[in-house]
Parts: sequence; C-alpha cells; structure tokens
Amino acid sequence: MGQLQGNNKNVVHEDPEDDGDIVVINTCGFIGDAKEESINTILHYVTKKEAGDVERVYVSGCLSERYKTDLEKEIPNVDEYFGTHDLPNLLKVLDADYKHELIGERLTTTPTHYAYLKIAEGCDRPCSFCAIPLMRGGHVSTPIEDLVTEATKLAKKGIKELILIAQDLTYYGLDIYKKRALADLLKELVKVDGIEWIRLHYAFPTGFPMDVLEVIKNEPKVCNYLDIPLQHINDDILKSMKRGTSHKKTTDLLKTFRAAVPDMAIRTTLIIGYPGETEAAFQELKDWVAEMRFERLGAFAYSHEENTTAADLEDNVPEEVKQERVNQIMELQSQISFELNQEKVGKEFKVLIDRKDGNYFVGRTEYDSPDVDNEVLIDATSHYVQVGKFAIVKITSATEFDLYAEPI
Ligand code: SF4
Repeated sequence: MGQLQGNNKNVVHEDPEDDGDIVVINTCGFIGDAKEESINTILHYVTKKEAGDVERVYVSGCLSERYKTDLEKEIPNVDEYFGTHDLPNLLKVLDADYKHELIGERLTTTPTHYAYLKIAEGCDRPCSFCAIPLMRGGHVSTPIEDLVTEATKLAKKGIKELILIAQDLTYYGLDIYKKRALADLLKELVKVDGIEWIRLHYAFPTGFPMDVLEVIKNEPKVCNYLDIPLQHINDDILKSMKRGTSHKKTTDLLKTFRAAVPDMAIRTTLIIGYPGETEAAFQELKDWVAEMRFERLGAFAYSHEENTTAADLEDNVPEEVKQERVNQIMELQSQISFELNQEKVGKEFKVLIDRKDGNYFVGRTEYDSPDVDNEVLIDATSHYVQVGKFAIVKITSATEFDLYAEPI
C-alpha cells in the first residue's frame, strides 16, 4: 500500500464504502478456516465484478502462492493471481512501479498510534503441521538498520507502540548475522524517539535467546509481554510435531521466564486434536495449562494440511472431539484469566487508549496486545481520556477478558 501511495494511487484498506474500481485481495492459506475466509472474499468480489460493480479483481498472498493453479482453474474470473514474492508484478498490473526508495514507506491499516513491524519473513523450522514454509519460504531476517529506519518513519507519523512480528522471532539474525540478534535489535529500537512500547509476538521455544529476557527486564520500553506459541506438551506429540523440545524443557523454559521477569504476561497458542492425541495426552495438556496459568491462551483445532509432513499421518481425532477438547481448554483458561484479572482490581496501570466505542474509551496495558488480549474500559459518560495517548488508570472491576477502570 505504501508503494501504491508512493506511485500516486488512491488506495484504501477494507474500503468501508466498498466502491473501489480495482480490488486486490491479500489472502491467507494457513489452515482450513483461513482458506475458507479467503475463498469467500474472492467469490464476493468476483460476483461484484460479474455484476459490473468492480472493474478488476487481483488475488495475492499465501493462498494464491499455495494453490495458484487450482484457483486459476476453479475461479477463472479473477484477473490475475500473484504469489508471496510477486509484489513488483502486482504493482505493474496496477500501473505502478516498484520503487526501492519506498521500502519502509507504509500506509498502516492499524490506528494511528500502533503498528506491526515485520522483522523477518519465512521460516526454517520443520514443524510437521505447518504449511507456512511452503508459502513463505525459508527465514530471511530484515537487517537491523532497515528496521530502525522503518521504525523511525513510523514514529514520525505518531506511532507509539511497535508490535514485532515474524513467523519466528527466535531465529532472528541467524541468517544474516550468524547469531541470534533479537536482543541487539531491541536495544536499537528502544533508541527511536517517540516509540514508547515494543511488544514481541511469535517466539519459538527451542533456542530462545535468553539475553532477550534481560532486555525485557531492563528496558522500560520493551513490554513485559511475550507471545510464544507452544502447540502441545505431550512428549510423543511434540516429537511428532518436530518441535525440538519436550514437556520438561518447555516447563523449565517457562519457569526461567517467570524467574527473570516475574510480572511478564505470557501468551501461548495450542493445537488440539493433532493426529494420535489420546485422551491421556489431552489430559496431560489440560493439567499443564492449569499448572502454568498463562496470562493469555488461544486453542485451535488441528487442521490437516496437504504437503506438510503431518499430512502422512492419519487425522484420527474426530472433529467433534477436537472441538470439545478446544472448549474444555478455553473454559479452563477463562477461569484462570478471571482469577488473574481479579488480582488487578485496585491497582494502577499505564494504558494506551485505542478508541472510543459507544459509552467507553477502550485501551490496553503493556500486558495486552490489540485484538487478542484484555481491554481496559473507561466510562466515557463520566471520564475523558484522549484516543492515541497514554493514561494512568486504576482498575475498579474485572471480568475474564475486560478490565474496568477510572483515570487518576
Ligand atoms: S515455527 Fe511457526 S511458522 Fe515455522 S514451521 Fe513452526 S509453526 Fe510454522
């Protein structure tokens, strides 16, 4: 979008009026639900094209990288499909040039005060269930100086919070610097004026760079927050998933995190119903979730993906059992989350106000990421706080996913 804008094109994200002439759909092809959503979106715009409401429809991104030939056959009314490394060609059909000087120029689609910063693309891990390396290729880190340039440009536009993402943050630097360099990157990013919060999403447990814990602890700008998808805990399943870790190593790692940064919010995601997940293996997972008391947790039913190594296994946990197990984990987590949130009542937090929604200003603490974590609600009929700015609040009450607060 930054490239299009730099080419003087009028471009909008998720056009609220839905009245553009040319539609570019950036697809996801990761798991069944994401593929379905992508295909429904393509069909929606192809129907609009057939009705004469849209001139041209282009499809890019992971689904089209993974299934280009099938899609061209099944939905031929799309003008052209592009893969994940086709940006210059996509720009060409949009009558724009790929300009090197525009790298790092962004038209952000998030609110004006936070932005995602992608620090690497692709993944070198062998996780058996995962289709991402098929679509995104091997791990390629973006150099520290390029990321600092991008962060500086974002800060100049008013961005206060950077949310660092990659398929695998843990691997950052190994390809270009021959060493894990996430801590080095963080130490440079904290120097960017205007950036006040830096948040880490998607670390891989095996080989996690422990020097990052020191940076989280010592740098006030780096949020005491870590998203580390752990997927499962049963040793047989972890082995089959090719995660390079075990029940004991994972538990020890979490204990090290808690000891180093006691108030860190740890977020994880789990895959439920992986091939061969017995009732006992699931029970082990559930007991471990109860023991670890993650601040945040998401559980997803296993999706059997072709061309992954797990595709050779039998997808032998029935869908309704997967769903029932997901529900059990989420019920347990919602109780844990409720209890952890009650501990916050009466305490003071710095919050970043994201938006006004009806009668509430909605913000987040450093322990919460947008869209997926807790929100802090401030009654807008009796209080005023500025959207996009920080406020100090006191928590007055809490549910499992929301905190109610008053500014102080
Ligand atoms: S580390 Fe993440 S992106 Fe990479 S293969 Fe494993 S699950 Fe997929």
